Amino acid sequence: MDEEGPSIFSLIINGEIPCHRVYEDDLVFAFLDINPFSPGHTLVVPKEPARTLEKLSSESSQAIGAVLPRISQAVLKATGTKEFNVLQNNGPNAFQSVFHVHFHIIPKYEDGRGLSWPFKSSPIDHEEGARIASEIREHLI
Ligand code: AMP
Repeated sequence: MDEEGPSIFSLIINGEIPCHRVYEDDLVFAFLDINPFSPGHTLVVPKEPARTLEKLSSESSQAIGAVLPRISQAVLKATGTKEFNVLQNNGPNAFQSVFHVHFHIIPKYEDGRGLSWPFKSSPIDHEEGARIASEIREHLI
């Protein structure tokens, strides 16, 4: 569901809604997902209330990128797992339900608990790939 006003994650960051907090610094907050795919499923959230990743400032992007590996390592150690997925959804059709940027860290247990892979892919069309890669490069200049 799309939402108006502060996101539920802003309310959590501000302490107005309880959570199982695992990490906080000036720019980043992390806590357990309330509906986990597996035990230890953690959400890493910039305090900046950007709705989707491409709108996030460089400062917050750097801050979240810097701590994601560290939090992932702590999740692995705490859960006794060795494998995990990082998931990041943008837009309702891309399975985003809370419109405040967040990265899921989802431990994958040996018994199968964690994320399963329902996605379909097909071999690249190289002609189309060359065109899209060129367009992406132009937009990155
Ligand atoms: P997404 O579908 O990528 O937007 O994921 C949103 C995630 O936020 C879901 O996995 C929810 O279970 C989680 N979530 C929603 N409300 C809360 C809450 N109050 N505390 C912790 N996690 C939440």
